[in-house]
Amino acid sequence: MPTFRILGFPVRVRIGFLVFLAVVIVWNPSVGWRFGLAVTVFSLIHELGHAVAARRLGAEPEIALDFLAGTTRYTPPRPITPLERAGVALAGPFIEILIGLAALGVLRVNPLDVPAVFDHTEAAVIWIAGPIFGLLNLLPIYPLDGGHVLAGALEELWPSRGRDFAEFLSTGFTIGFGVLALAVDSIRWLAPFALLLVALQAWLRWGHLIRPVRRRRVAVDGSESGGGSEAETAVQLADESVDRDPDLIGGVAVADRHSTVVE
Ligand SMILES: [Zn+2]
Repeated sequence: MPTFRILGFPVRVRIGFLVFLAVVIVWNPSVGWRFGLAVTVFSLIHELGHAVAARRLGAEPEIALDFLAGTTRYTPPRPITPLERAGVALAGPFIEILIGLAALGVLRVNPLDVPAVFDHTEAAVIWIAGPIFGLLNLLPIYPLDGGHVLAGALEELWPSRGRDFAEFLSTGFTIGFGVLALAVDSIRWLAPFALLLVALQAWLRWGHLIRPVRRRRVAVDGSESGGGSEAETAVQLADESVDRDPDLIGGVAVADRHSTVVE
């Protein structure tokens, strides 16, 4: 699939993203192409926000656009603090909302006046793809950016258990939101998204569980190949490679795919 560079960052467009655009356009042909364009532009802006913030930490981020979600992969050259990681997560939606509001300002549309926004097709697609998707990404729910911000803040306060607590809270919020969506007619269509998010969160938990297995396997290989200090070195190398795994954050439309690949 095509790869190009923006601001020096490699951007890969995956087939899933083209399928996503096709679905958007076919779904509502009259505004579909405009919405598709807005989603493409704001997804890129969102990911560039993450990428610029990660580059400030010394990383060389890579961007990919995929079905429903863009991703920014970065590997910091040094251990970064939970707050630095939260800052990178925050930068994407922040710039997406800011540029969306600026574009609505140019069109002279008040983003708080919803009927006026929907009077104007360009304003409506910018409003949804910019500020609204940006705000949705800030919900304190994994794997959205807001979940990573919550985890960063809690890890800063409680280094050993902060991340677990953030995952627990995030699943609680998602289930709460799903129940609310089922109860309220106007937002019932969001209930399947809540279910999808809970499934993703469970998968992210499972990813955590396989880490020690990977470490043990390398340790066993090490002891078979000589034991003693070689086994210790193997455990050390395995630990290092697991810890060095690239951090992955991203966003767009509804779902970010952060820690899906952080593991
Ligand atoms: Zn994001």
